[in-house]
Amino acid sequence: MKHDIDSEDLGGWPFPCAYRNYTDADRFHDGCGIFGIFNHPKAARLSYLGLYALQHRGQESAGICSSDGHHLFHEKGMGYVSDVFTQSRLGALHGHHAIGHVRYSTAGESKLQNAQPIVTETLYGPIALGHNGNIANAAGLRRDLIRRHESFFTTSDSEIILKLIGQAEQTELDSALRDALVPLAGAFSLLFLTRDRLIAVRDPFGFRPLCIGQLDGSYVFASETSAFDLIGARYLCDVEPGEVVFCDPGGLRRTRYAQMPNHAQCVFEHIYFSRPDSLVFGRNVNQVRYQLGRQMAREFPLGADVVVPVPDSGVSAALGFSAESAIPFDFGIIRNHYIGRTFIQPTQAIREFGVRVKLNPVREILEGKEVVLIDDSIVRGTTSREICQMVRSAGVRKIHLCISSPPIISPCFYGIDTPRTRELIAANQSVEEIAHFLGVDSLHYLSHPGLLASMSDPQGRSFCTSCFTGKYPVVTAEMGIESPPA
Ligand code: SF4
Repeated sequence: MKHDIDSEDLGGWPFPCAYRNYTDADRFHDGCGIFGIFNHPKAARLSYLGLYALQHRGQESAGICSSDGHHLFHEKGMGYVSDVFTQSRLGALHGHHAIGHVRYSTAGESKLQNAQPIVTETLYGPIALGHNGNIANAAGLRRDLIRRHESFFTTSDSEIILKLIGQAEQTELDSALRDALVPLAGAFSLLFLTRDRLIAVRDPFGFRPLCIGQLDGSYVFASETSAFDLIGARYLCDVEPGEVVFCDPGGLRRTRYAQMPNHAQCVFEHIYFSRPDSLVFGRNVNQVRYQLGRQMAREFPLGADVVVPVPDSGVSAALGFSAESAIPFDFGIIRNHYIGRTFIQPTQAIREFGVRVKLNPVREILEGKEVVLIDDSIVRGTTSREICQMVRSAGVRKIHLCISSPPIISPCFYGIDTPRTRELIAANQSVEEIAHFLGVDSLHYLSHPGLLASMSDPQGRSFCTSCFTGKYPVVTAEMGIESPPA
């Protein structure tokens, strides 16, 4: 069940959770980040650090589950990783194995019950699960399970996976897991923890990333390699799409449970979600964004005085645009990185500050200039309009807004929080109309071929671009779309 709240539901405040800050409200949002470590004496503390490095993937709740080989220990709470895990809570997480999760709800409400890892008792002993992605046939599977007398303690789609394992008529967890994965449609990068095993899974299309690393002889897993960098782990490889990786005292064992001729790695991981210092789908995010910028400069040969990024996600692409076009780069907008959640309250008084709470134009750089303004995407257009008005107020002569992705015309069903089609400005207005709405002199979107040329997976895997095309690689009845599969 897709979580989809109208701005009106919350008195006009344009996002459903007080933890989401103003300028990020009009963006796509990643669903979650996951981290795991097997056989390390500091498993819980390293998981804490790993989650800290993945905080950008989810700020609503955080949790860690550890195992000492006999019992699972479990701590989770609402808020940032640093808020949830006090010394005493970390001290209660015993054992040498752990998985952790940071959450931004894309299916199920934002409440403690839905925070992960989710832990349940099964025939195979207690199992904890951390999930990044969205099960696109969750409602049907849930109905079937309820008919078979299963009860649910959360409204999250992730619990369905644990229930399917519980329902499998197998004697071994390995076979039960395989049975549980087969009916799932959509996006799922998963980490399971049992008393004595850590298991990593990636869906057959490979929508969401999941990496394997090594630290002091222990195996570590994370959504992004920035988590490895913080703890000093070495990146080894990705969990392959359609693969299950078992980690136990005997070492690492990899098996494939499904094979797809085409993959569907999410392009938005590179365009916006992932950290620029991460390796995602085998490529450094910063370098991909730089290439997107170079490609834009080739596609839009503009004359201008200065290239200015919308910080922070526009920076790498703006550097690429500047290098290719030979137009000087400068930080014409400065971002305040120190806005606490206390400031983010749904009141009219705060809303009047708009993007200025977080972004401030530098008049000395912008005044009298023809500016190429670089941003990663336009979702509803409301925040982009405020940013353009703010830049205009600093006395610029002309604004050419360049977007390092094509127009977003369709929602995501694979683990990204997106508005409905009627709220996506590019689904309802032409480029000229959007430029007029934003108040810019010209508006340019990167072409679809230009996007794919800049991505180029080192192993030749393909990407999901459904939010730009409306054609989906996985279609279920619950998605309620009529378009043919990609
Ligand atoms: S629809 Fe868009 S955001 Fe969703 S997985 Fe595909 S590319 Fe990523």
